Formats: sequence, structure tokens, C-alpha cells
Amino acid sequence: MKIPLSNPYLSSLEKQLVLQVLNSSQLSQGPQLDRFENKMAQYIGSRHAVAVNSGTSALHLCIKSLGIGENDQVITTPFSFIASANCMLYERAKPVFVDINPNTYNIDADHISEKITARTKAILPVHVFGLPCDMVKIRAIAQKHHLYIIEDACEAIGADCLVDAVPQGQAIKLSSQKVGSIGDCGVFGFYPNKQITTGEGGMIVTNEEKIAMNCRSLRNQGRSENSMWLEHEQLGYNYRLSEVNCALGIAQLTKIHLLLAARARVARWYSERLSNVADIILPPHAVNCRRSWFVYVIRLRDHYGRKDRNKIMNSLKSYGIDCRDYFPPIHLQPFYAEMFSYRRGDFPNTEKVADRTIALPFFATMTEAQVHHVCKILYRIMRNYKYMRHDFMAVNNQIIAN
Ligand SMILES: *Cc1c(COP(=O)(O)O)cnc(C)c1O
Repeated sequence: MKIPLSNPYLSSLEKQLVLQVLNSSQLSQGPQLDRFENKMAQYIGSRHAVAVNSGTSALHLCIKSLGIGENDQVITTPFSFIASANCMLYERAKPVFVDINPNTYNIDADHISEKITARTKAILPVHVFGLPCDMVKIRAIAQKHHLYIIEDACEAIGADCLVDAVPQGQAIKLSSQKVGSIGDCGVFGFYPNKQITTGEGGMIVTNEEKIAMNCRSLRNQGRSENSMWLEHEQLGYNYRLSEVNCALGIAQLTKIHLLLAARARVARWYSERLSNVADIILPPHAVNCRRSWFVYVIRLRDHYGRKDRNKIMNSLKSYGIDCRDYFPPIHLQPFYAEMFSYRRGDFPNTEKVADRTIALPFFATMTEAQVHHVCKILYRIMRNYKYMRHDFMAVNNQIIAN
């Protein structure tokens, strides 16, 4: 049985809406764009949404529209997809890394303040694997130091956390807010492995009209809202999203609750089967927040090293089970290491986690039988692995036998 790492969930609605676009002959800058943006703004609970052609473009436009540029610094995490740090380099700003909390895999909010300098302009937290960052702490730090917050919510659509303590008479009311809507702006991505997909695509959400207007101009070659077609007010880009992509996004948003619930169920199937495996650490729990499942990432215990992890991944692949080492640390990517003289040891928590993670096959349409198959193969591989603890055998022999 071959099992892919991810798989989009497309149904007849996607085909119907895409076909409508093809029949309309308006393939760009039409009504689907407005519909997709409005639907997204409503779902996230933000005033504005601006669709672009990738999550990376969305990040770039956030940096640019907040006026972050040369000599500026932005605090972020080294444990992420590379785009969340590259977006600063596009504008010659510097990503300043803060190590992660090894229990959540997210930026450690308790160590942000010590990295703030006169040049710091923003904090860019990434909700890694769909688990919300500690936005209460991050917002307090940003307010104290007058910094912007750009949320990279590309992996966390639909996740929410408790934020403001709003006094309501005697009681203090914690309100729950969707990630992406908490900072000054937030970013989503719609690559096919994400919770919802448009093929390629991204979205900026914000409550600030100025940011939204500027992003609209920047994605469209620097035109203003009422510019003539060949009149450009500023240096812009072509980051537009086609009507075909927007139609896909509308269809996917229509059933996002179903998609997220299906993913949560798959995660539960995994956790039921893997919670007894002594050498495996399950994905972190969500505390005071609700996660959105992007990937199911297990972590091997500390007595395993990177080589052990890679061997186990290769074995899984030899059985037809796709898996990936989400994420190699950004600071150790060759051009980062060279540009900023980073070395192994600079962010020990990130490295410890990154050396031991395995993303298992995970998608909304995955069946319980497929999950069971993955776990069974993983058991077999780990049972034969030299470091495997013996208590594992007694617990899991029965499962292996099935
Ligand atoms: C997917 C992702 C992005 C955006 O990726 P694109 O391929 O450009 O859409 C950005 N940040 C993180 C953390 C991601 O996982």
C-alpha cells in the first residue's frame, strides 16, 4: 500500500465553480476574487482580506506594506518553512531568530524581549504545524516595545486562541480569536498540502485599511485603486491570484469545517495508536487554544539522533509510506549559515527537535485503515531498531499482530 504525505480534498463543487469561471471567460480580476476575499475575511473575523499568488508573496507584502526595510530587524523563529524568514531578506531587513519552546515547537515568547534592539520593527510568530503561538505574551511584548506583529498562519487556518481579557461587569471575559486576526496582519497559504488549497495561492488578512490598500496596490504592479492601467504609483509586483484559483478557494472555504474535523479525526487515530510507543513523542497538546491540524509530526526521544531518524524515514519510504523531516532549521540552511555565520549549536532547542521529527502521511481523506497501516509499519521498523526500549514490545506486539 502506497500512502502519500498529503493529498488535497477536491469534490464536485470545485469542478463546478472552476468550470463556471472557464465559461465566463473572465480569468483574472473578476468577481471570484471579491467573493474569495470576503469569504475569507468573514471566516477569519478580520476586516480586510487580500488574495495573492502564494503564502510567500503574502509574507513579502506584509513586510513591505509595514515599511520594513534595510537595517530593520524582525524577530522570528528558526523552526519553520524558509519563507517566513526569506520575506525579510527580500527587503534587506534582518531576521533575528529566537529559539523555540521544545514543548510547543513555537517561538519561545519568554526569550523575545532579550533580542529586541532599537532596530527591531516587528515580531513574526509562526503557528508551527497549526498550533497557535502564545499570542497573549507576544502581544504584550509588541505593545510594550511598539512593534508590529505579522502572524504567519499559513499552517494554522481555523486555529484560535484566547486573547483579550475583556471586563464584563464582574466577570473577566476571555475572547477567542482566530489566528491571523490577532496581529497587525496575518498570512495564509494555499499550496496543495495545506488544510485548504487553491493550487497556488495566499492571503493577507488585516483590520487596518491602510495595510490592505497598500497590499492591493503592491500585488497589482503598484497601481492605486483608481489608477489607469498603465499608471503606477510605486514599485509593485504581479502577485495577483487568478479567478480559477479563487474559485477553488471559495469551494474549499465552503467546507472548511468538514475538512478541519476530518483532519482532527485522522490525528486522533494516530494518537490512539502511537501513545503507547515509549520512544515516540506525540504532537504537542493545545493549551488555552484550539489547533488546526496541518501535519501529524512525531518526534523521537533524545537517545535517537538525526542519523537514526533518517534511517527510520528511509525505511518508511521503502515500504511506500511517504514522510518528511519537517523542518530542517532555517539558520542551518547553507545560505543563511554563510550570510549570518550561523553554526550548529546556535539554537539548541530547534536543532534538538528538528533532528528528531518525522511528518507522517496526513490528509483529510485518509482512512483509519491507512493510519493503522502506517503505524504498523512504523512499529515494525522501530521494533527492529537498535535503541528501541524493551517495554515497547509487550505493549505493542498485539497491535503488530493485527
Ligand atoms: C506553506 C507555508 C508558507 C507559504 O508557502 P507558499 O508555498 O509560498 O504558499 C509560509 N510559511 C509557512 C510556515 C508555511 O508552512
